Amino acid sequence: EPSSLSGLPAGVGEALEAEGVAELYPPQEAAVDAGVVDGESLVAAVPTASGKTLIAELAMLSSIERGGKALYIVPLRALASEKKAEFERWEEFGVTVGVSTGNYDSDGEWLASRDIIVATSEKVDSLIRNGAPWIDDLTCVVSDEVHLVDDSHRGPTLEVTLAKLRKVNPGLQTVALSATVGNADVIANWLDAELVESDWRPIELRTGVHFGNAINFDDGSQREVPVERGEDQTARLVADALDTEEDGQGGSSLVFVNSRRNAESSARKLGEVTAPRLTGDERDRLRELAEEIRGVSDTDTSEDLADAVEQGSAFHHAGLASEHRSLIEDAFRDRLIKCVSATPTLAAGVNTPARRVIVRDWRRYDGEFGGMKPLDVLEVHQMCGRAGRPGLDPYGEAVLLANDADTREELFDRYVWAEAEPVRSKLAAEPALRTHVLATVASGFAATREGLLSFLDNTLYATQTDDEGRLAAVTDTVLDYLEVNGFVDRDREGGSESLAATGIGHTVSRLYLDPMSAAEILDGLRTVADGADAGADAADGAFVPADGADADPGADGDEPGFTTYTRADDEERDAGAESNEATQSEPPAVTPLGLYHLVSRTPDTYELYLKSGDREEYTEVCYERETEFLGDVPSEYEDVRFEDWLAALKTARLLEDWANEVDEDRIAERYGVGPGDIRGKVDTAEWLLRAAETLARDVEGIDGDVVVQVREARKRLEYGVREELLDLAGVRNVGRKRARRLYEAGIESRADLREADKAVVLGALRGRERTAERILENAGREDPSLDGVDPDRSASAAAT
Ligand code: ADP
Repeated sequence: EPSSLSGLPAGVGEALEAEGVAELYPPQEAAVDAGVVDGESLVAAVPTASGKTLIAELAMLSSIERGGKALYIVPLRALASEKKAEFERWEEFGVTVGVSTGNYDSDGEWLASRDIIVATSEKVDSLIRNGAPWIDDLTCVVSDEVHLVDDSHRGPTLEVTLAKLRKVNPGLQTVALSATVGNADVIANWLDAELVESDWRPIELRTGVHFGNAINFDDGSQREVPVERGEDQTARLVADALDTEEDGQGGSSLVFVNSRRNAESSARKLGEVTAPRLTGDERDRLRELAEEIRGVSDTDTSEDLADAVEQGSAFHHAGLASEHRSLIEDAFRDRLIKCVSATPTLAAGVNTPARRVIVRDWRRYDGEFGGMKPLDVLEVHQMCGRAGRPGLDPYGEAVLLANDADTREELFDRYVWAEAEPVRSKLAAEPALRTHVLATVASGFAATREGLLSFLDNTLYATQTDDEGRLAAVTDTVLDYLEVNGFVDRDREGGSESLAATGIGHTVSRLYLDPMSAAEILDGLRTVADGADAGADAADGAFVPADGADADPGADGDEPGFTTYTRADDEERDAGAESNEATQSEPPAVTPLGLYHLVSRTPDTYELYLKSGDREEYTEVCYERETEFLGDVPSEYEDVRFEDWLAALKTARLLEDWANEVDEDRIAERYGVGPGDIRGKVDTAEWLLRAAETLARDVEGIDGDVVVQVREARKRLEYGVREELLDLAGVRNVGRKRARRLYEAGIESRADLREADKAVVLGALRGRERTAERILENAGREDPSLDGVDPDRSASAAAT
């Protein structure tokens, strides 16, 4: 039993028992036998929800008990605070926990005092680059969902980060938690770890396919769920689970679909199934929950979610705000929400078991593939693994849907009987290596080409590949790129080749930028500097649009109100660049849009997609605002580059709208995104502009005014306001909407706020006394109290 576990801080065993852990699950037992509480490295490849977290906790707690320090690497930022909260229950046994989120350019010094640190792999990578001193003190590292090394975007970072941690600290205990994959032994081999592999689950899982009148399960059993002609298969299955009482209540369902739009429409439809099955009390509580959801943000998404929730149905996808997500997850666990329609993001990591999982869509649109592509077996298995709530259900049911007999057979072969794919390293790709080669050299992990290759030999890629030359070849291509862009110096004298990061190379690595982003940003900012020099010779440095776009559209005889935009062709453009000092060359004005576009076209931003009709719209914007772009605009004939440019422009326009105080729901509608996406784009752009500011200061030849412009464009994003509100919006608790109302009431700055008539402040803040007092206090007012201010009078004061 757990209380007899040795090597843990005193009392932990009893505490586990009190939590309901009467004995270890078999895979946990196997992990202990393999030495996980004695500092042995371990790969645990076991199904979802079978207690992997406790294996990690046993490793970390025993390591700390021996005087060590542990790091827990989470796959998603959203999971970091969840895990921290989970581990904080050990604080009563003297174990301290810290989570490292936020900026990528700090060394997180304060974390030195924590016993357990939770962070994403990107964050750990950046902490290493910034020389966090405590990295050397780590004795135990846990990598959650290690099978994600297979992910082409994020996998290489995890892979290199683990290799670095293990290199810095040869005795490091590495505990890797994985879903059941095809080649867990290869991962264990890479990490020099023991392997615990098991199919054991705390609750039985039946996986099956529904077709016609029944679900056929993998254990040979069958469940009659007849679907009438014209009736929706998913709706019938959700109703069937709800109408089957196991413990006095019907069972909840989790429906996986392939897009956000489908999640939303599915939730709306399934509300018709859940609503009639709610009790009066549930209806009341759901109404309250819906109000809370509406309070999170005033967007259509928020409104749609609240509407569905009132019916007992919800959707869940990455476009939701994180507050939305946790409200939904909690209410689903509390069994108040009866059905959640989700995109696969929910399957990874979030602990939301359901009585029945329905995998409605097993194909998803894939842009690179150019059509609908079947999901990975691993992904479908993880979705299915969410079925069955231990202690509540007799067993979990996962159901795939077929509408003909052939598809039923295909689904059995493809998913039910199939093993998950093997994990494969994606490291030997140029974009991944570009970043990691620079960081590896800059942080002193390699000083020569040979040293670099031998470091890379500690990666999963090296363990897996048969083609030894490939990694070396890509590495050399990447080194050429880094040298040409001035990030790395190479010295080929003698037999070996020495490598060193340049000053700017070090900065780029610490800023956590893709070197290609840094090169793009520097290029863009340098065009301003060149232009500004030339402009000093031009008359007043005044700026006149080259193509007359700003001139009166009717002046040259065009139809009134119709402007044609022409663009210098590339030859003219080149000629202009060569005769820089000529008076006809004008300095480009630096505008927020220009800067937003610059950062949006770097590989560190996920651009918005161009939908049909967007190409025309943004081509027009491109010509209309041509003078604002930093760097060359690709020609329309360069199809792919131009398309990419336009996608960045669409993204930049979203950012510009945000900085122009356009309402969130207008933005969501205009660009077809959710509130979570707006936040994400704004955060990324802020981070990149901050990096741009540092770069602009660090390199020669960039005008000081540009630095100021970059900072202002960033601050406008941070607060989502126009220039004149920057001061006010910087006061805590003010925000973009309140700042605008205060401004309209004549209070234009923080100083004004300290002096203002309290009745006017209260009026602008719509009579909310507590808010007004807090704001006055934050603005530094000596007597923020609003006692005795008449709210009625304040309303009329604000109106004047
Ligand atoms: P995984 O990380 O494998 O998906 P979790 O670690 O989240 O799974 O475990 C799922 C649930 O099982 C958690 O609620 C956890 O508290 C519970 N649990 C873990 N180990 C035991 C045990 N030995 N006895 C009882 N419950 C356990």
